[in-house]
Amino acid sequence: MPTLEIKDLHASINGQPILKGVSLIIPQGEVHAIMGPNGSGKSTLAKVIAGHEDYEVTSGDVLMDGESILEMEVDERSRKGLFLAFQYPMEVPGVSIANFLRAAIQSRLPEGKELEVTEYYQQLYREMDRLGMDRSFTSRSVNEGFSGGEKKRNEILQMAMLKPRYAILDETDSGLDIDALKIVANGVNALRGPDLGILLITHYQRLLDHIVPDNVHVMANGRILRSGNKDLALELEQKGYDWILESAA
Ligand code: ADP
Ligand code: MG
Repeated sequence: MPTLEIKDLHASINGQPILKGVSLIIPQGEVHAIMGPNGSGKSTLAKVIAGHEDYEVTSGDVLMDGESILEMEVDERSRKGLFLAFQYPMEVPGVSIANFLRAAIQSRLPEGKELEVTEYYQQLYREMDRLGMDRSFTSRSVNEGFSGGEKKRNEILQMAMLKPRYAILDETDSGLDIDALKIVANGVNALRGPDLGILLITHYQRLLDHIVPDNVHVMANGRILRSGNKDLALELEQKGYDWILESAA
């Protein structure tokens, strides 16, 4: 089965070890959630998989369908079918979402092949209908003056259009209001299916009330301390993290 596999991954920033042996397998078609206290290394894991240049992988590997991606440029990882929600966080004043997405898709086509504009808009509107999004949204400039919810809508639409095989969504605890939370939940639920593996990083138990994950992993101090099914998320909601931290100490 095709998988995104994280193998005993160790990574540092400025010589300080943050990830201390993370192993995870996300099969295509499954949604895995990572939860854990602040400072556990969740965002670091997402950034290392993304190829963020500030982080140094000191040992271990990240394999996409068996092929190591660690030596690949960020863009190459993306072209191979990896999606990271924070890949285009910047504002792009004057460039509409529709044109931005069109350029992103065009850049993935083989040399000399032109994206057919009518087909592109058909696909765009089909995906927006599926996600229940208003068409006027695509004439907005990318991220310019976006609310938290609109940023999420943009991310989810990018994911729908780029059709990655694996997506990593890092839902930080800031800026996720109820509106944004619902957009992420509806988007993930609409897009989940046999061709997409999702790693959903969240501080929010609440998000998992709306997205039922196939597996839940608890991360603390740079390691995965426990994995389980969706019931683990409920258990965490009731009992917090301390019992897991203590049993690992
Ligand atoms: P989480 O997303 O689980 O809250 P992070 O991955 O953001 O955790 O952070 C994990 C640890 O790495 C924290 O102790 C944090 O202080 C440290 N860290 C993150 N980024 C940097 C950085 N740029 N320089 C030094 N330490 C960092
Ligand atoms: Mg984080």
